[in-house]
Amino acid sequence: MNIVIFGPPGAGKGTQSNLIVKKYELHQLSTGELLRKEIKNNTELGKKISSIINLGNLVSDEIVRNLIENYISKDIYKNKLIFDGYPRNLTQAKNLDAILKKNNQKIDIALKLSVSLKTIKKRILERKTLEKRDDDKEEIAIKRYKTYEENIKPVIDFYKQSDLLKEVNAEASIDEISDEISGLIDSIKGWL
Ligand code: ADP
Repeated sequence: MNIVIFGPPGAGKGTQSNLIVKKYELHQLSTGELLRKEIKNNTELGKKISSIINLGNLVSDEIVRNLIENYISKDIYKNKLIFDGYPRNLTQAKNLDAILKKNNQKIDIALKLSVSLKTIKKRILERKTLEKRDDDKEEIAIKRYKTYEENIKPVIDFYKQSDLLKEVNAEASIDEISDEISGLIDSIKGWL
């Protein structure tokens, strides 16, 4: 089973992905984390993308495409991936579909975490004190939210059309959200 999880910054994608990974024995593929790792390790790629990320913009579709393709093509991850923070626009959704097809795989469910801007602001301010992410400054967090809103609509339609989209109320507590997601995953028939 391959899962896509998306939602605005602060929706809890990372937290919920971790829980899904443990329960269903999947592997998390967070493009945000992979990109931050490149910055931390000061790689050529890291140098190129740090200012883009710290302004709350999206890095190029080509860069993230290469990152995810590395994973999808490996046998140990076959049909065991949860895509956290990917796709973020229609091109990425189509790229993901094409790469999965090439590797005889598909997405089985797309989880959309819905949450208000007010809650997002509160959560990101809390996270800032814990994780110290450079892009969690309030104005950049708002910019990331806007970037999300500007790009995500066609992604939502894309997964709606293939009947994979499930919306989750991400205003609830971590446990409640997790229970709702588990129910949705369990209701998918025919997965391995
Ligand atoms: P959040 O969703 O809370 O903003 P992420 O860790 O998912 O946090 O992403 C952090 C940043 O990494 C994004 O603002 C963006 O600059 C970059 N990024 C992550 N995933 C992608 C992607 N799929 N395409 C382009 N840029 C991405």
